[in-house]
Amino acid sequence: MALVVQKFGGTSVGSIDRIRNVARRAIATQKLGNDVVVIVSAMSGETNRLLGLAHEMVAVPDAREMDVIASTGEQITAALTAMAIQNEGGDARSLLGHQVKILTDGAFTKARIKTIEGSKIFSTLKKGEIAVVAGFQGVNEHGDITTLGRGGSDTSAVAIAAAIGANACEIYTDVDGVYTTDPNLVPSARKIDRISYEEMLELASLGAKVLQIRSVELGMKYGVRIHVRSSFSDAQGTWVVPEESAMEKVVVSGVTASRDEAKITIRDLPDTSGVAAKLFAPLADGSISVDMIVQNQGHEGATDLTFTVPKGDRKRALDILRAAVPEIVGVNGEQIQFDDEISKVSVVGVGMRSHAGVAKTMFELLARENINIQLISTSEIKISCIIARKYAELAVRALHEGFGLSLPPAERAGL
Ligand code: ASP
Ligand code: MG
Repeated sequence: MALVVQKFGGTSVGSIDRIRNVARRAIATQKLGNDVVVIVSAMSGETNRLLGLAHEMVAVPDAREMDVIASTGEQITAALTAMAIQNEGGDARSLLGHQVKILTDGAFTKARIKTIEGSKIFSTLKKGEIAVVAGFQGVNEHGDITTLGRGGSDTSAVAIAAAIGANACEIYTDVDGVYTTDPNLVPSARKIDRISYEEMLELASLGAKVLQIRSVELGMKYGVRIHVRSSFSDAQGTWVVPEESAMEKVVVSGVTASRDEAKITIRDLPDTSGVAAKLFAPLADGSISVDMIVQNQGHEGATDLTFTVPKGDRKRALDILRAAVPEIVGVNGEQIQFDDEISKVSVVGVGMRSHAGVAKTMFELLARENINIQLISTSEIKISCIIARKYAELAVRALHEGFGLSLPPAERAGL
């Protein structure tokens, strides 16, 4: 007998019929002898609709009231799902964040979970009922409703799985797993059977939308085995697991391209101490997250510095720099150059740790397509290159093919 958490995303609960399917799946899982906890998202489109209402009312809605509105989407699905299970002959109870109780910090619209009490869930299960928990929501220490940030019901599910010691956390979604790259871009992309938390974190940070990043971090911290799979089939999806059990011993697991960044270069900086600190302090104060940073070797006392920021923040970053450090960027920012037409292509894989030459191969594959690399950054398990946006798809195809990702893992000899 196992304890199973099943989380259903917005499209999986997007209609009355789909909620009936969720109910049948949960009952079937229970009938196999498992205790079942179902976590639900709002019906697809519902959270956007709710946030839209708030913004229709006022341009900048109060964050506390935003959460009171946003959390209702999951409340509705939880009740409908419990009703559907009862209607199919099962027993179920819906539980909201404050009933469970999912205690968070007080950061409305982006709260973080502090603790989860398991007792209410356990007493529900003990009665033979399926516990249906509203995802995305919690309460702060004053009992105010909080939400966990967009996509947060993944995090609810993994956190609850950790708190109650579930054997697995199934994340049901509208795709059948995590792919070696975007299958819409590269038809030969393959579903990955097992992937490590570390790799999944990189892929999620690089824009793979299947799991909220925070949920992967939690899974890694507490060793929750996460199974990403489709609610429209019974096929096995992708298991996100500790590295030792991520069996596919491949060098590169996935290739991604993100189009969300812009590049900023500041020319002719004095090559002395304190300059980078002066530049990045006002950006940090403005909550602009800087990704890649490259500074050149100084020559004749001067140097250039290039970095990337989220594309949506590029204009604000320039305004901040002009206002905060005119002595460095020029009064009208004449020392600043920028480029919004870039893309970051990355290859990810824990196998890189023990395998030299991945960077070399990546550069060769890009060179073969005559793609110029503008910036490079590496981590233990990732290499990213900034290239011109118009080559992003070509680059992804070349890297996917070149690293053998169209082949089954066992057939990818060496690189
Ligand atoms: N309903 C919330 C959202 O749309 C949470 C979730 O679906 O995970 O962001
Ligand atoms: Mg979601």
